[in-house]
Amino acid sequence: MTQATMDHLPLFADLNARPCLIVGGGPVALRKARQLLRAGAAVTVNAPALHPGIEALLQAGRLRHAPGPFDAALIGEHFLVIAATDDPDTNARIAAASEQAMRLCNIVDDGERSSFIMPAVVDRAPVVVAVGSGGRAPMLARVLRQRLDAWLHPRTGALADWLAAWRQPLRERLPKLDQRVAFLQQLLDGPAAAHVLAGRRHAADRALETQLDGQRPQAGEAWLVGAGPGDPSLLTLRALELLQRADAVLHDALVPDAILDLARRDAERVCVGKRGGQPSTAQDAIIDEMLRRVREGQRVCRLKGGDPLVFARGGEELQALAAAGLPFEIVPGVTAASAAAAAAGIPLTHRRLAAGVSFVAGYRADDQAITDWAALARSGHTLAVYMGAGRLAEICAALRSAGLPATTPAALIARAALPEQRVYAGDIGSLGARAAAADRPALLLVGETAALAGELADGRARGDRQAAAG
Ligand code: SAH
Repeated sequence: MTQATMDHLPLFADLNARPCLIVGGGPVALRKARQLLRAGAAVTVNAPALHPGIEALLQAGRLRHAPGPFDAALIGEHFLVIAATDDPDTNARIAAASEQAMRLCNIVDDGERSSFIMPAVVDRAPVVVAVGSGGRAPMLARVLRQRLDAWLHPRTGALADWLAAWRQPLRERLPKLDQRVAFLQQLLDGPAAAHVLAGRRHAADRALETQLDGQRPQAGEAWLVGAGPGDPSLLTLRALELLQRADAVLHDALVPDAILDLARRDAERVCVGKRGGQPSTAQDAIIDEMLRRVREGQRVCRLKGGDPLVFARGGEELQALAAAGLPFEIVPGVTAASAAAAAAGIPLTHRRLAAGVSFVAGYRADDQAITDWAALARSGHTLAVYMGAGRLAEICAALRSAGLPATTPAALIARAALPEQRVYAGDIGSLGARAAAADRPALLLVGETAALAGELADGRARGDRQAAAG
């Protein structure tokens, strides 16, 4: 015999019109009765007295009542049994009788003695996802269920119905199995499925017909996607969806493996981060590579740290795509300023302290006079300085000569939203020296709002700050 590696074999039971027994008449029995009734079961409740909710179902003719204490003779007449009494001895007798009669039996909240347990369920009927932990970690199963629930498109069920309607016609048009598999794979990644999920069934049918006619090979596309500050849980759902669809992921060096690992398994991953040499040449090479792949019919996910339109040269890439007449989509991401603000507890705007926020670059490869610090100093905005950590002392000095007092609050936030996150709080008179050795990437926030850092930081960030100060 082979070794068992699963505690439970997941089964989807068709209980429609099949007799099922619930022993017990309280609120737990009511909950179980509702679950079984949703699956169409013919439910009998064996109990001396009934909860008003069960009574109501009985009156409505939805279930039967076998009055009195547990009657072992009932077991043989039912496909499965749920023991929902509050008496452990009775539950044990129900389990023993079921075992003997070879009926599946669940004792509520006692996975050990049950011969079946009910999984946590994500319901997108007819699609159902069941999550179990072998009864060992019900909380984990619940959390996973919640995540799957958030991830699975609300119209997944409609997609299944639509595919079911096409099943027979597709069999006739594509008689070979491997042909159908390839077709369906492409279909699910393509516009037809997207139409169904958006509720446009007619357009979906047309897109499927087009694909079926083979008139158009898969059209390439580019998606300019923001990966956020680096924590996978700060990705948008759309970013995740496109990552899992892309044929190739062209990513910056800042994007961590934890995010890249979410891409489709067979997707090609290409790091196009700074590769030495002249940055402008590198940028041209990135654009050339992206255009070539899209023209070849690939769906290219151009994945950038933070937001793709904030200091990411996304504009140039979009211009190139537009000039070439190629289709693209832009997916925003959590930009470093937002992540750093959240990490440090610094509002970027504030009714009394900052009427606006300016995103500025602290460094430019071509080394031009980069920023009109005087205008920024006058603006009263919170300043979010990207790419400035390497020149922190210089930038703080420039702001002071532009008229900001040395006591102007400031904070440098390193690796915001990542496990090694650190907040260095101070002012523009002192910060330059203190944070010289800060890890990268780091973002500088300057302005009266930065004074709130100590007060508003969440627990995690506060711990980090103490560590940084010590
Ligand atoms: N498109 C990105 C910015 C790229 S420029 C965005 O929207 O966030 C790179 C700069 O972003 C870095 O020099 C640093 O200033 C900032 N940055 C990126 N990720 C960061 C992080 N996790 N924590 C702090 N700053 C970060």
